[in-house]
Amino acid sequence: MSAQTEGRRLEGKVALITGGARGIGETAARLFVKHGAKVLIADIQDELGHSVCQELQTPDRVNYVHCDVTSESDVQHAVDLAVSLYGKLDIMFNNAGICGSSNTIFDSNNETFKKVMEVVAFGGYLGAKHAARVMVPAKKGCILFTASSVTECFGFGMHEYVMAKCAIVGFAKNLAVELGQYGIRVNCISPFAVATPLMTERFGLTKEKADEVIGSSATLKETALEPEDIAQTALYLASDESKYVSGINLVVDGGYGLTNPTFP
Ligand code: NAD
Repeated sequence: MSAQTEGRRLEGKVALITGGARGIGETAARLFVKHGAKVLIADIQDELGHSVCQELQTPDRVNYVHCDVTSESDVQHAVDLAVSLYGKLDIMFNNAGICGSSNTIFDSNNETFKKVMEVVAFGGYLGAKHAARVMVPAKKGCILFTASSVTECFGFGMHEYVMAKCAIVGFAKNLAVELGQYGIRVNCISPFAVATPLMTERFGLTKEKADEVIGSSATLKETALEPEDIAQTALYLASDESKYVSGINLVVDGGYGLTNPTFP
């Protein structure tokens, strides 16, 4: 390891990150590049995705592709593009997601319900399936999902979101069993509330409000989570430091769920 690459935990690895144009995915893309990975950002917000790449100014190490995770041809193309640009795919980070709108079972909207299931559950399935297609012959790989702490701490409402995220956790564990024989690890990260555009748009959650309400209720009595906290968890799970970790749902909530059975 040269002095230049020392401490770079993803040196030589190739990652595809869905939902990488903003929020948690964008932060992970920046961190992965900093740690030596080559990254293909996949999203439907093309302008944002391109601007992240331009800002990073390393075209040999970061690129953007339009990819709606609900479209199998888009997902297939994104995986194949990562391989043709960088020669392989080591890390598939299935992170794209949307929120639901229901508060109770009676006000859930069938169309929203189907859409959330399609993006989160079906999109995650397609990402994993096409990643496995290239990882199995390589006999190594890491498939990651951003699930949510709603998979462990209930009472959030938004049944469509809870159902889709719980589906992903079950799928990830099942897949970890199937793909372990090929040296492929499959894990989930389950963040508590992070003040990303998703949460600001849906709940008006600002960083200040998150610090006040969420940070103060967490066992660690810290400020609220930041996208960087989730990106660092993804970095750990994507790196060889976690080479014996598979089939887990790693909750990142500052211990909130230990003492709070439900959401604020
Ligand atoms: P965000 O809205 O900032 O980012 C989500 C990204 O996914 C966006 O860039 C969006 O364009 C992209 N996306 C949405 N639909 C897509 C599709 N069909 N195809 C491709 N890309 C699509 O939100 P975020 O908070 O960064 O969320 C990232 C992930 O983290 C999501 O899966 C979300 O459910 C999960 N999560 C977020 C929180 C939180 O509090 N922010 C908590 C738990 C889990």
